[in-house]
Amino acid sequence: MGAHRAGIRQKLRQGAVFGIAVAHLAVIGSSVTLHHGELVVTLRVLVAGGAGFIGSHLCDYLVAEGNEVVAVDNYITGRAQNVAHLAGHERFTLREHDVTQPFAWRGDAVFHLASPASPEGYLRHPFETLWVNAAGTDVLLDLARESNAKFLFASTSEVYGDPLVHPQTEAYWGNVNPVGVRACYDEGKRFGEALTMEYVRQYDVDARIIRIFNTYGPRNDPGDGRVVPNFIAQALSGQPITIYGDGSQTRSFCYVRDLVRGMAAAMFTPGTQGEVLNLGNPDERSIRDFAATIMRLTGAEAPIVHRPLPADDPKRRRPDITKAQERLGWRPTVSLEEGLGETIAYFRQELGKQTLP
Ligand code: NAD
Ligand code: UDP
Repeated sequence: MGAHRAGIRQKLRQGAVFGIAVAHLAVIGSSVTLHHGELVVTLRVLVAGGAGFIGSHLCDYLVAEGNEVVAVDNYITGRAQNVAHLAGHERFTLREHDVTQPFAWRGDAVFHLASPASPEGYLRHPFETLWVNAAGTDVLLDLARESNAKFLFASTSEVYGDPLVHPQTEAYWGNVNPVGVRACYDEGKRFGEALTMEYVRQYDVDARIIRIFNTYGPRNDPGDGRVVPNFIAQALSGQPITIYGDGSQTRSFCYVRDLVRGMAAAMFTPGTQGEVLNLGNPDERSIRDFAATIMRLTGAEAPIVHRPLPADDPKRRRPDITKAQERLGWRPTVSLEEGLGETIAYFRQELGKQTLP
């Protein structure tokens, strides 16, 4: 049983909170049932960007926990096939919709993950990226406000830009180029964060912000240009591994299963309204070492080629996750080697399918 359901059950056992919780649930229409002597709450959850890489894993997690999930996506960078295995599930619905346009929904919790996320994705869709983090965030915050629902904004370590403080704590304000090519994403997310905090301050919406650091795993889009899918696909197909720059820049990679646990904890842990939380794995590696790890795990002997470092590519990145550890009791548990093992197995299967006639 996940931490948040345990939390909800525990809460419901406490008399005073029980009355409030059930009254609230009655207003918004969530169901409360008795199962083996325990009260079980089925929360109605909206996942914007639910057909994306992380969104699809979050939908899996929330459905498995007994919740009723509506995923909304316009497929600009996501794929319906990411949630195809949930099609027909009685507690899962997929709706094609652009969240910058208002729509109807009532429920208990809104996860806002809708945004291109890879550098190639947002450089291809700069206006859509700015807009979904501005207008899309506003539409979704409004829905949360109308439903008196919880809200979580999926921000990014990119708000720290090319950081001058290392590792990055939530208190660091960042070093972002506001007019550079990555600004559509970095500044889009920074605007989304500011908007979220105004909904907390002005309307008392129960919202929080998570800053996600590089996350990887099965369903990483093989074509989105990020380093994990690029290196694995290159290694498995015997193509040269493309290191940008000299490979001394660092990233810290979090396995997606760890991340979604952290996202649920950030949403449902009491006392997180208005909080900003880093979620990521502090295991920092240089891109050069990362390439060597992929080659070792795939058994590939592909050559390494160097390509120019993209503009404004951050030199170092590692989350300080002390706050998430203390406030949520969360930390990642999957090692890079273990997570990459599962990801490589997924890519072997996917790339195998592509070469079939
Ligand atoms: P993704 O591109 O796979 O998923 C994003 C989803 O949002 C896609 O399915 C896309 O089609 C959808 N979307 C975009 N604009 C939309 C709109 N206007 N209306 C409806 N749907 C829309 O990316 P991801 O890696 O799963 O990232 C999910 C979220 O997490 C993003 O907000 C991203 O900024 C954030 N994040 C991800 C990482 C990471 O390493 N993957 C790191 C930091 C932050
Ligand atoms: N990178 C690389 N080769 C690739 C793709 C990316 O060397 O084929 C580098 C990129 O320059 C960056 C790091 O890997 O320093 C992570 O890139 P990614 O696009 O995955 O995410 P970012 O953290 O930059 O948003």
